[in-house]
Amino acid sequence: MPKEINSAISGFYKLPIEERVNIIAKIIDLNEEDKKLLRNFGYFSPSQLDTLIENVVGSYQLPMGIACNFKINDKDYLIPMVIEEPSVVAAASNAAKFARKHGGFHSEKIKSVMISQIQITNLKDISTAKEKLLEHKDEIIRMANEQDPFLNELGGGAFDFEIRELTTRRGEMLILHLLVDVLDAMGANVVNTMAEAVSPYLEELCGGKIYLRIVSNLATHRIAKCKAVFDKDLLGGAEVVEGIMNAYEFALADPYRATTHNKGIMNGIIALTLATGNDTRAIEAGAHAYASLSGQYSPLTNYQVDSEGNLVGEIELPLALGIIGGMTKIHPMARLALKILNVSSANELSQVAAALGLAQNVGALRALASEGIQKGHMTLHSRNIAKLAGVPEELIEKVAKKLVDDKKVRVDYAKELIKGMMRNKE
Ligand code: NAD
Repeated sequence: MPKEINSAISGFYKLPIEERVNIIAKIIDLNEEDKKLLRNFGYFSPSQLDTLIENVVGSYQLPMGIACNFKINDKDYLIPMVIEEPSVVAAASNAAKFARKHGGFHSEKIKSVMISQIQITNLKDISTAKEKLLEHKDEIIRMANEQDPFLNELGGGAFDFEIRELTTRRGEMLILHLLVDVLDAMGANVVNTMAEAVSPYLEELCGGKIYLRIVSNLATHRIAKCKAVFDKDLLGGAEVVEGIMNAYEFALADPYRATTHNKGIMNGIIALTLATGNDTRAIEAGAHAYASLSGQYSPLTNYQVDSEGNLVGEIELPLALGIIGGMTKIHPMARLALKILNVSSANELSQVAAALGLAQNVGALRALASEGIQKGHMTLHSRNIAKLAGVPEELIEKVAKKLVDDKKVRVDYAKELIKGMMRNKE
């Protein structure tokens, strides 16, 4: 029976990390090894960790791999990826090779425009309120920009707004979309501050009541687009291209398949998002909302076959990624990842991310359309299964290979193998 615990710990957030660890260790009966693991902060100092989030008790590590072979807009990149799933980095590197033969990836320049939503309710007269807002546009934008003079100096800041009318069960609402060029930042903090600052003035102008003032993660003014030609022969021939085109049609027609299709794209994009200290949830939410904008959840990539039988792939999705702000400059490994990536703007980072997403999708579709996804997956997965079965470090490779060869990548079989090996040793 698992032990019953009481999770109501008063003042937990006020304690130093060490004391929090002791409390958790006591409640859960953690042993010395567990406590040692919690106290291992890796490259972080305890104070760095303790200021990132609340109630910190430890640090959590993941592997960082490098995707190779990427040429994007005629520049070569080594792309850091932080992900726990085997085969993802290999698939991206492979697909980048297929595109390299035809000049690599071509990503479009992206302006870092974010939307900050201001929800104006309880309006007596919607059209008069709209007129008032438009009449005082310059003043509203000036007030927003007063919040971030530095951003302004660099050439960014609020520059326009859009007004939308929403009919809801609680009546009509005006939603003002403040448009802000956040330059090299992801921008959520910047635009939230601006929206909060202008809201009292908007209430004064319109006479309504403002509730929400927050960034939209559906960053439709920050759409990344990338295109590449993937070599037919390197992909495995016309039959594989045919399979990929069928897979694409399947995703177009079926949201169940489109979800997994897009998950494959996000394998790459989120791994880079995480590596560079960006907000993975923001990117994920924006991508899936964008995939549903037509009313049917759809693939974020599209494919055609050119006159020589090569696969032509394109990707399009919102990518609010920054190289400044948030955690990007605080996290030591995120800083290093950005150094390895060698990008000089948020625009360039998003161009790389779009190319990676496209490559990731082609890599997965190629495997699905040819030998199936499991073959590549299983080699790495089998090592994890061997570890899970308690196989000693020096025998992992041997057992993992046998699991794959016998097509039985299972913990029970790994245990059986190791028992046999031990018996033979005796
Ligand atoms: P930030 O506020 O940390 O940094 C941006 C600031 O950096 C700007 O205000 C600007 O003055 C300064 N700056 C210096 N050089 C700049 C340059 N070249 N370009 C742009 N700005 C420059 O960061 P942020 O990007 O506004 O916010 C990102 C953080 O907000 C993330 O950590 C995210 O998790 C968090 N967040 C997200 C949401 C959401 O997505 N819904 C909501 C709230 C907070």
